[in-house]
Amino acid sequence: MYYNILVARPFDQVFTYESDDQTLEVGQIVIVPFGKAMEVGMIMQSDVSKPDYTIKKIETIIKGIQLKEINIKFLKWVSDYTLAPIGSVLKLFTINKDIITYKRDDKIVSEATFKSTILNDEQNKAKEDIIKIQKSSHKPVVLEGVTGSGKTEVYFDLIEQEINQSKQILIMVPEISLTPQFENRFKERFGMDINIWHSKITPKKRKEIWHKCYAGEPIVVIGARSSLFLPFTNLGLTVIDEEHDSSYKQEDNIRYQARDLAVVKANFEKNKLILASATPSLETINNINHKKYHHVFLSKQYSGLPLPQISLVDLSKNKLEKNQWISALLKKEIEKCLSNKEQALIFLNRRGYSPLSLCVECGYRHQCAQCSSWLVMHQQKKRLLCHQCGSIEEMSFNCPKCLAKDSIKFIGPGVERIAEELTQSFPDKVISVMSSDLINSPKKIKELIDKFSNKEIDIIVATQIMAKGYDFPNLSLVGVIDADAGLFGGDMRAIEKTYNMLQQVSGRAGRSQQTGNVIIQTYYPEQPIIQSLQQRDRTSFVQQALLEREQFNIPPFGFMTSIIISGPSKGNVEKISQQLVYFRKYSEEFSILGPVEAPINLLKGQFRYRILLKGKSRKNLNIFTKKMVSSVKIPSAVRVVIDVDPYTFM
Ligand SMILES: [Zn+2]
Ligand SMILES: [Zn+2]
Repeated sequence: MYYNILVARPFDQVFTYESDDQTLEVGQIVIVPFGKAMEVGMIMQSDVSKPDYTIKKIETIIKGIQLKEINIKFLKWVSDYTLAPIGSVLKLFTINKDIITYKRDDKIVSEATFKSTILNDEQNKAKEDIIKIQKSSHKPVVLEGVTGSGKTEVYFDLIEQEINQSKQILIMVPEISLTPQFENRFKERFGMDINIWHSKITPKKRKEIWHKCYAGEPIVVIGARSSLFLPFTNLGLTVIDEEHDSSYKQEDNIRYQARDLAVVKANFEKNKLILASATPSLETINNINHKKYHHVFLSKQYSGLPLPQISLVDLSKNKLEKNQWISALLKKEIEKCLSNKEQALIFLNRRGYSPLSLCVECGYRHQCAQCSSWLVMHQQKKRLLCHQCGSIEEMSFNCPKCLAKDSIKFIGPGVERIAEELTQSFPDKVISVMSSDLINSPKKIKELIDKFSNKEIDIIVATQIMAKGYDFPNLSLVGVIDADAGLFGGDMRAIEKTYNMLQQVSGRAGRSQQTGNVIIQTYYPEQPIIQSLQQRDRTSFVQQALLEREQFNIPPFGFMTSIIISGPSKGNVEKISQQLVYFRKYSEEFSILGPVEAPINLLKGQFRYRILLKGKSRKNLNIFTKKMVSSVKIPSAVRVVIDVDPYTFM
């Protein structure tokens, strides 16, 4: 018999194969010869007519693994929505030779011993509300709670119910670096192991978890984006923690938004889904406003303490000393905090020592040879680093252009420079830096977090890695060095992201023992965004932001797709970009912006151009985009990437 087979390769079509076996069903997994290699494939259609060219035979039929109709429906949907070839989407399901041919050892079931926590009245009501909602509705539930309100305890109670019914549970988190503290918390609460799923787990673990999910065994998985594609067959509940976090958007290979796909999948499968956040995304709020999602809100800190007081330091009136970035006012607050034997967190979302190295003689700037970006000086590594491509150069104080000696000066601060300034002001205190350069493994994160929790560190200077998820009882002061970076002049998503980050970091102080204090340095204290931040008036920020997006017809009110064209020859890249937009004459339904040189116009030696498409209907926009891209013959030296619902415009 002849079968149409989807092969896990980047093709948008099926291929026909032959087999003596007449009984193969749609969704069954096979291994087929493809080119010179053997590839994994899935039966999409059986009993197709014999084509008039030579047909290869199916090599191996995998017994016992078959995707259900609903899985295939979802797979097709992902391909249609992201415009990724359907064969590449099959690959996302981690169906590879290693996994499908794996034979399991005996099953070991880990016994759970629950240690319930006592929920306060507000948490209890939230829990009961969610249970009631989920009995009669399959729409997602947004669990919004101010920082420190104990959202996790609420959904832990709901997870307990699912475990009691031998159901599978998936908890998605935006950054796997957050998992060590979460893992401990989970173990303490449930006395059982949690299965961690991300790209760096061992092949053995990967196989074990995949097969447990497929077998419908009652397991709890905590995972990054890709956990969405695990083959759960008995899923009770999915929780998406920090649902607003932009790292749910995958930016390489297939570009997809894991949160959005999880919502679609839960809808297909009629499964329960909770979106948790202290700062729900504008898309999610818009869905609540339109009654597509339910909303449950926790308004108080679990500790019963009032939320920390936020004060602004107007830097235009409180002038900073030369080559210093911490105002006298903030320093005084740090001193007060430390003399009370409490701890401080100083926040600046900029890695390294200094973002710009400049020759004072000739104006030369250290720039990456591969990218259009400045090199950032990292003092601890004694190197210049490109934050775009990661390339490293030796640090030199002499100018490579005019050859002046000792003429390179470092302009502006990163976290390392802030730590240096703090060391000068508080020489007898322990000051640590937390950024992804220095703390780059779950083990190192745990060490630093433990040290800070045990009060071995007085001041921690941190980037966004610290903005969320952590709980420090003795932390009473948060200082924000530069609230203006990212809030003004950025694109719409950058502004939302910065606002959320500042709101989250403000919630780190005073969570359990004493009322916290937050000091924000800004040059624009009167600006409405800064005002709403200070007054904890998120609603007015959200209303204003939604209004602006509606005016400009951008998400969640309109749809956008980016096309990124790149290659080693600038002329070629520009030519192809021009040819692509030539297609605009076929439609007036969409606005097509560009092509323009990308803000990062050179990345890893590739010149980059961008086109932005905007439209009112995702379906029509996708049909148009597909036609547009296929209207041009793309040479192999030029790469065209389609980014549906783009999050970055660089
Ligand atoms: Zn670079
Ligand atoms: Zn120079």
